[in-house]
Amino acid sequence: MLWTRTNKRNSCFIEISSPKIKPRKTEMNDSHLRWMREAMAMAEEALAAGEVPVGCVFVRDEQIIARARNRTNELRNATRHAELEAIDEILADKLLTPTISKYPLSTTTLYVTVEPCMMCASALRQLGIKEVFYGCGNDRFGGCGSVLGVNERLDHPSHPSYRATGGYLREEAIMILRRFYITENTNAPVPKSKANRVLKTEILPDAFVP
Ligand SMILES: [Zn+2]
Repeated sequence: MLWTRTNKRNSCFIEISSPKIKPRKTEMNDSHLRWMREAMAMAEEALAAGEVPVGCVFVRDEQIIARARNRTNELRNATRHAELEAIDEILADKLLTPTISKYPLSTTTLYVTVEPCMMCASALRQLGIKEVFYGCGNDRFGGCGSVLGVNERLDHPSHPSYRATGGYLREEAIMILRRFYITENTNAPVPKSKANRVLKTEILPDAFVP
């Protein structure tokens, strides 16, 4: 995605890409898209708050048990990604996490608008996440195949691997990131004028052909 290449100095930059694993149309069933729309609503909330627009929901037994969005600018904390925000909420709630167990997310599925970064992908594996669905890939930090296959390609002596599938509401996930990066980032140490930038609407097809 050429449009992001000029933004590499931005510390909260996400370089989007096509997911390495593209779901076939028949696999994009309504329930996955329904949950991803909820995640997208959280990304919209992040955009409105001046954050890199990434949102997520965690689903257990066909119900959303936590929803969150990026809060890295607000909290000035680079670890405050949507996934970790939601995980903190789940682990702190005695109804959602009644006992201490090795893998408290073993019956929980994550829907997130952008491929989890390496940090989040590792946390998800350590907590035994059941499965992950995401929108667009992340060529700079992606931990589910784009940079490192933390979810399953890397061997680990005990933590079980998990499947991560991209491509759900991919175009929307890309466009909301573009909308963020085209506006002024007032949280940057030296805000750069982006007044002359034009919002690109062309989305290239996935390179991956199943
Ligand atoms: Zn992350």
